[in-house]
Amino acid sequence: MTNFYHTLEAVFEQHAQDDCLRMAQGKVWRYAELQDCVERISAVLIAQNVSPGDRVVAQVDKSAENLALYLATLRIGGVYVPLNSAYTTKELDYFLADAQPSLFVGAQARDDVSSLTLTADANGSLVDAMQQHDLTIPLLCPRDESDLAAILYTSGTTGRSKGAMLSHGNLSSNAHALSEAWGWRCDDVLLHALPIFHVHGLFIASHCALLNGTPMEFLPKFDAQLVRSALTRCTVMMGVPTFYVRLLADADFGANEVAHMRVYICGSAPLTEQTFNQWEERTGQRILERYGMSETIINTTNPLHGERVPATVGFALPGLTLRIADDQGSEVPVGDVGTIEVTGPNVFSGYWRMPDKTAEEIRGDGFFITGDLGTVDAQGRVSIVGRAKDLVISGGYNIYPKEVERLLDDMPEVLESAVIGIPHADFGEGVVAVVVPQHRDVDIRQIDKALEGQLARFKQPKRVVNLPELPRNTMGKVQKNLLREQFAHLFS
Ligand code: AMP
Repeated sequence: MTNFYHTLEAVFEQHAQDDCLRMAQGKVWRYAELQDCVERISAVLIAQNVSPGDRVVAQVDKSAENLALYLATLRIGGVYVPLNSAYTTKELDYFLADAQPSLFVGAQARDDVSSLTLTADANGSLVDAMQQHDLTIPLLCPRDESDLAAILYTSGTTGRSKGAMLSHGNLSSNAHALSEAWGWRCDDVLLHALPIFHVHGLFIASHCALLNGTPMEFLPKFDAQLVRSALTRCTVMMGVPTFYVRLLADADFGANEVAHMRVYICGSAPLTEQTFNQWEERTGQRILERYGMSETIINTTNPLHGERVPATVGFALPGLTLRIADDQGSEVPVGDVGTIEVTGPNVFSGYWRMPDKTAEEIRGDGFFITGDLGTVDAQGRVSIVGRAKDLVISGGYNIYPKEVERLLDDMPEVLESAVIGIPHADFGEGVVAVVVPQHRDVDIRQIDKALEGQLARFKQPKRVVNLPELPRNTMGKVQKNLLREQFAHLFS
């Protein structure tokens, strides 16, 4: 039986009376309670005619019930499609049209698709339905390793989001590999302040804890004070670089508060050497940086035992093969920069209903072209040197410039635009829109305002600046590297 939930269910039964989720408001969910919630939601999903292979799109806040919704979808053989809760209605329209779910779960019902509501405080029609007494709990649906378990939408350079298709085998193999690599212990407690619509919080963090029957301090979001207080009860923290930067911003945060911590894990965006060093100075511990993505979950990690080197992302996980390749997929000499390509049980099977994109990015020999540029040293230690794609990562979230540029270019006041990421102490990168106005009298503030409501907040440029023209190379391509240099200190 390779339904990943089957593996988890065995753990839940073994740890029935142990704490699973410790919520910020004080409520504690034991493993038996989570399992009961998963089973009840399974019954509701079946009653809603969700069949194996059907998509369940969820745009919900972080809650125990929302985690159970994900697990229930796996249990009945459905395909879970989590969406960022910040997406606007217009963005949601695209995802629903593309995923064609048989059920949508969100804070508000929709007219165009069968819907249930679920809010962060566990109100809504889904919760009402699962509290009925006469529910018939369905049997767990058998799945093959290659059967789809989830679709994670990533943005595309064309601005069109691609749905990365992950199987039960992908989830299971990576969860086991991480649990092993990070030496998960039965007395571990995980600080979980990440959102659960993204690979980091939903899979990487939650799976490690669930697979080991250990508790999570399940915070609704990152809040430095809440995190500091929860850390006193934790042994492992997983976060994006922004979390670490924000904790360091508290001058009195230091070693005596976190001396009991076993490991700090960081990823989803580059961790600066400065933050790595400051963290070590302040806490006496070195952050363990790892590298992953929606399409592959985790690829590499610094060692739990052994040297953690700043500005490197460590070694390929066991069972996975990583190469640094040229445009043809041939390995480049050790130390040279090339594109990071990976193959292994963690690698997704392709993009949902985009066979051409899949063929472009997964080679005939099974290697996935990650789009990240990196190097590997003679020992196999990987460093990421940049992104081939022009992805901007702000606060751990991806923003593809094209999507914002399109909206800008559609405005009558804008001749052309280029969206770039500029180093930002708090967010890692801040989104900056460089626009060439149609005429001199254009008020830049109006452009900024016109974007409001059209984009999720995290994609909204933090600054809009104007230039008389964009720098271009002889091929007519905008030289974003020059713009990044020109505006490098905008936030410092
Ligand atoms: P996502 O699919 O949202 O997880 O974004 C994946 C991208 O985040 C990768 O392709 C990398 O560009 C970037 N990323 C993830 N982890 C790291 C890291 N440790 N250092 C640098 N970039 C990272």
